[in-house]
Amino acid sequence: MGYGCVMKHFWEEKALSEMSADEWDRLCDGCARCCVLKEQDEDTGEVTYTNIACRYLELKSCCCTCYESRNKLVPECINLSPEETKHFAWLPSTCAYRLLHEGQSLPEWHPLISGSKNSTRDAGMSIRNRVISETDAFGT
Ligand code: SF4
Ligand code: SF4
Repeated sequence: MGYGCVMKHFWEEKALSEMSADEWDRLCDGCARCCVLKEQDEDTGEVTYTNIACRYLELKSCCCTCYESRNKLVPECINLSPEETKHFAWLPSTCAYRLLHEGQSLPEWHPLISGSKNSTRDAGMSIRNRVISETDAFGT
C-alpha cells in the first residue's frame, strides 16, 4: 500500500500576495455583488447592499462594460489588490478574495472548485435577475 499524494490548489498553498495576475483574476467568481451600490450606517459602520447595480454593469452577463476605464468613469470603483486589504471589508462575505484573506476556504459552488463557469449563477450567488440598473433607478 502506498501513500497518497494530495495536490494542493494554488489558492490553498499561496498567499494572495504570492499569486500571479492570472491566478488573482481566476479567483473572481463573477457574482458581481461588488458592483451593487452600498450604504454605510454613519454610526455603526454597518454596510448594507442595495438592489441597485452600477450603471456600467451589464445585468445579464454580470460583466463590466467599461472595465479598462472604470476608475475614470466610476471613481468609487475599487481596484482589488493584495496590498489594499482594507477594502476587503466592503466585499460580500462570499467573495473569494475576502474568504481567503480571512483564512477561509472557497465554497463548493466556486467555479475553480465546481469546474463550471455557471456554478456561481446556478448556486444563486450571482446578482443576475436580482437587481436593477442605477440608470433605471435614478433615470440618469
Ligand atoms: S464580489 Fe468578489 S468574487 Fe464577486 S465579482 Fe466582486 S470581486 Fe469577484
Ligand atoms: S465600473 Fe464596472 S467594475 Fe466598477 S462597479 Fe461599475 S460595473 Fe462594477
